[in-house]
Amino acid sequence: MSAIDVSDCSRCKNSAIIYQEYSGQHFCSGCLIRSVRKRIGKELRKQLILPKSSEKELTIILVAISGGKDSAVLLETLNHFLKNRRDVKLIAGCVNEGIQGYRNPSMKCAEELSKKLGIEFRTVSYTSLGFDEMDNVVKVIPKISEKNEEVKGMSPCSFCGVFRRQGINQLADDVDADYVALGHNLDDMAQTIMMNLQKGDLERTIRLAPHSWSPIRGMSPRIVPIRWIPEQEVQAYAMTLELPFHDDECPHSHQALRILHRDIIARMEDAVPGTRHGLVHSSDSIKEMFKDNMPRVKNEKSNENSPKNCEICGGITSQKICKACVMKKWLVEHS
Ligand code: SF4
Ligand SMILES: [Zn+2]
Ligand SMILES: [Zn+2]
Repeated sequence: MSAIDVSDCSRCKNSAIIYQEYSGQHFCSGCLIRSVRKRIGKELRKQLILPKSSEKELTIILVAISGGKDSAVLLETLNHFLKNRRDVKLIAGCVNEGIQGYRNPSMKCAEELSKKLGIEFRTVSYTSLGFDEMDNVVKVIPKISEKNEEVKGMSPCSFCGVFRRQGINQLADDVDADYVALGHNLDDMAQTIMMNLQKGDLERTIRLAPHSWSPIRGMSPRIVPIRWIPEQEVQAYAMTLELPFHDDECPHSHQALRILHRDIIARMEDAVPGTRHGLVHSSDSIKEMFKDNMPRVKNEKSNENSPKNCEICGGITSQKICKACVMKKWLVEHS
């Protein structure tokens, strides 16, 4: 797919700004906006299962936003489709990881967009959840890994991912959310699916969002309405509509494995356009196969991995103590 294109739009006479290799179509900015919205709207109708008004008056969706382009497009499109519905309320929530020079400007963008759309904006910080700021966590990780074999080779993102999930759960609890919307684009989804399959982690594949048809106990179902939109189209959409977003890289980003998968998937997509869609379809088929008997995947031999409550925080976990509490303990011991 090429962002600089001099061809005509396949749908009208305007100049194209993007070429979709996987469909063979060129799009001008207006047709791209319409096409992206159409795909997101279709997916949203499948994933967002609204109760009858007699059952529940208001469905609250916490939209997890970061200030980046993906969640900006998520918030803008959800607002586009749902703003006139009196039975749905969107609340934007942003987790502050405590990363100097990176999180503050992106949070400003997130807040600006929420304000522009008239959507309530909430934040939660790692420190308010009892974790340390990520800038401090990265300094302590080498000390923790000296004493704990399992931490060796873990990146800051391994900690940050666990903490962020706690933050989003906290925001969802605070607003009593019925759904949590996440801004994973097609590239993110394909990379995650590939990583889970490579590790042989069937349980993660099955638990991957959307959760609309397979809710996970103790968690507001995650929806991922922009999951069929490639990253480049998300970027073009955000830029065309001049959505405020922050595009810098996090200074602690050492997601070596994800970068490897990003490269592999980009090369596969180049060689066989449609690879990313194929991966997401495959993952959906696997999920469908295990839809009604998901616990059996892990429970065939033992009961050990069935969901239970963490002995410390009460959160849902497959272990006695959840990962967030284990990490919190490590941080306290080494700070
Ligand atoms: S790149 Fe890693 S450390 Fe930085 S915000 Fe993302 S998950 Fe956290
Ligand atoms: Zn057009
Ligand atoms: Zn816990």
